[in-house]
Amino acid sequence: MEVRLQNVSMKYGHISALNGLNMLAPDGKITVVVGPSGSGKSTLLRLVAGLEEPLSGKVLFDGKPVHEPPEKRNIGMVFQSLALFPNMTVAGNIAFGLQVRKVPRAEIEERVKEVAKLMGIDSRLDSKPGELSGGQQQRVALARALAPNPRLLLLDEPFSSLDARLRDSLRWEVKHIQQQQKLTVIHVTHDHVEALGLADHLAVINDGALEQEGTARGVVDNPANEFVAWFMGYNSVPYNGGRLCFLPQEAELTEPALAELHAEVDAVQNSPAGFRARVSGDSWWADVETGFSPAIGAKVGLKLKRSKFFKN
Ligand code: ADP
Repeated sequence: MEVRLQNVSMKYGHISALNGLNMLAPDGKITVVVGPSGSGKSTLLRLVAGLEEPLSGKVLFDGKPVHEPPEKRNIGMVFQSLALFPNMTVAGNIAFGLQVRKVPRAEIEERVKEVAKLMGIDSRLDSKPGELSGGQQQRVALARALAPNPRLLLLDEPFSSLDARLRDSLRWEVKHIQQQQKLTVIHVTHDHVEALGLADHLAVINDGALEQEGTARGVVDNPANEFVAWFMGYNSVPYNGGRLCFLPQEAELTEPALAELHAEVDAVQNSPAGFRARVSGDSWWADVETGFSPAIGAKVGLKLKRSKFFKN
């Protein structure tokens, strides 16, 4: 199912959460909405789910304005606070949405087993959520959301409390299920690395409005403005009445005389590809990947293989 937000605004009292947001989540794809904390990501999911009404503008499902109450929208949701039912078993949790829909008992049992297997928790069906690890609880929440075969899955930073390895393996799980079932997913996160990895379609929002949307590659390779560039991990340094933006892997450390940007090495870290150096210039600093470990305090030039310039 395709989801479109058309000029949507929404306030909590006098606090503006969305300001004329336009955004698309294409059918059968994973759309990642990325933006800083407070930019309106959760609010946009709540509007799509029907938990809030827009002040103005429209939410369209397959081109038609949606007015159904949340329980009629057939949407699966996993939020950061998982809200698993602590007194119910894993099987009971997964079955919940099917029972609400009055699915026959035998069918429920079969579907619960099927989804639990898909999520790798079929050996824990009789456990209570409190007896499971954080990662397993996330799997139960995902299984519960997927059990009723939703036409849309909404994920609100569901993995942010997990350690890095678990987060990575659950991201693969979501990607696998989404690609296998051609499910439409909207996933929100403030983590641009997660966004790039997961997204078919990427929407960058800021202050309740869209900054840019497109393929994940398209947005990262061609940010529309300095905010998007900075948010997607570019360095941004003042240059000729504007900002020069470049990714850490797109700068090379050279002799100062060989480059236009001059800086001094502040600190060095290891990185999978070699090293990362923080270099600072006149009122700016940048993060640069290097194949060697430069000396702290060394004067260097920055030769840019690719950059984007934005006028102030
Ligand atoms: P994000 O998910 O990107 O962090 P939110 O959608 O949660 O952003 O919030 C957008 C704005 O709305 C923020 O300024 C936030 O403080 C405000 N907000 C969110 N929920 C509420 C609420 N229940 N009451 C009042 N203000 C809220």
